[in-house]
Parts: sequence; C-alpha cells; structure tokens
Amino acid sequence: MEQDRLIACHDCDALFQKPRLGRRRLARCPRCKAVLYGSTSGRLDPICAMTIAALITFLIAQGFPILELNTNGITSQTSLFGALQVLWSEDMQVVAVMVFCSTMLFPLIELVALLYVLLSVRAGFVPPAFHQVMRAIQFVRPWGMIEVFMLGVLVTIVKMTSLARVIPEAALFAFGALTLMFAVVVTFEPRTLWDVADTLTKHKTRQARRRTQRVAQQRASGTAPRQG
Ligand SMILES: [Zn+2]
Repeated sequence: MEQDRLIACHDCDALFQKPRLGRRRLARCPRCKAVLYGSTSGRLDPICAMTIAALITFLIAQGFPILELNTNGITSQTSLFGALQVLWSEDMQVVAVMVFCSTMLFPLIELVALLYVLLSVRAGFVPPAFHQVMRAIQFVRPWGMIEVFMLGVLVTIVKMTSLARVIPEAALFAFGALTLMFAVVVTFEPRTLWDVADTLTKHKTRQARRRTQRVAQQRASGTAPRQG
C-alpha cells in the first residue's frame, strides 16, 4: 500500500517517503532534525544479543550440577541430565521424555532457530528454509517450560531443607537467569522478522529487475556487458 511507504514527522508534521535504511542508521526529518525511525537491524540487535546470552546460559545450565545434597556426611550432586537418567532407569520413561523435551530439546530448538534467522536477516539476507524455521519457532515456543521446571526445583529445595543440607550449584543460578532471559526472548514478535524478510525479498527482486533492464538497455545500444 502507498500509505505504508509514507511517514509523518512527530515534531513538525512534514510528510516523507520512507527510505530504506542501512545498518544502524537513523532517518531524521530534514526540516527539524527529529528522529523519524531507526533501521530494523537496530531493533534486532538487542534480541540477537539476548538470544546468544540465553544460549550460553542454557549450555551452563545443562552442563553443571543443579544441587548438592549432604546427608549424614554423604554428599551427592545431580545435573538435569543425571536426573533424566535416574527417571529413565526408575521406569518413568514417559516423564523422562517429557522433561527432556520441555527443558532441553524445545528450548534449544527455539534458541538455535531464532539465532539462525536473526543473524541471517541482520546480515541482510533471507536464509534458506526461512519459512519452515519460523514455523518451527512458533510450534516449539509453547512447549518450552523452563520456568515450570525452575518452580519445581525451588519447591523441592524448600521441602528438602528439613531432610538434608541443600547447596545450590551453578546450574540452578543459570536456570534462574535463563527463566528471565526467556521471558525477554518470547516478548519478541516473530512478525517483525517476517516483515524484514518481506522487505529484503522485495528489495532483491527490485535490484534483479533493475539489473536485467540495464543489461537489456546495454544490448539494445550495442555495448555488451562486461563479464566477471
Ligand atoms: Zn520534522
């Protein structure tokens, strides 16, 4: 629509055509110098940084022990993976699979897929299988339940303190941080990425059409285009 390409200055009401901005650029009103809007890559930067931080925290949360229990001088530690192994060996395979999917597999798929599309779009191109990856993100998002797991661990700690000495380990803090990071990551609207990808595709098509027209004009005027 024509209106989509127009923007009015908030300060002086002047109407402008929306130009496409480069990375980290700001569009300013030429009359009063007020900022009209920023480039989309600027909007993607904070969420991109948060996703990378969440991925690193996720690896810490999975790799380190969550708790250390001390009862009558006997100390035992467990990580999430260790807890899954115990569930599996105790004939609770369904629970083990559910915990594995909701706390490891789906959050990991969401973070990796989000990072894949964010980094590509930020670099200025639409990655292969963009639509499938975006649908995968929307599919796995409701199934990631790190916050529920965190709540379960906290309740367990409170109940266990009367039976044993409970020492929180690195992964517990990592899970706490991850819960907050996920809360920020899910505020990001995937629609923004669809919009940016749409703009990039239109821009590429326009460039290709212009290139074809230029080649046709050069051929018509008798000058062959240079190869390479
Ligand atoms: Zn203005």
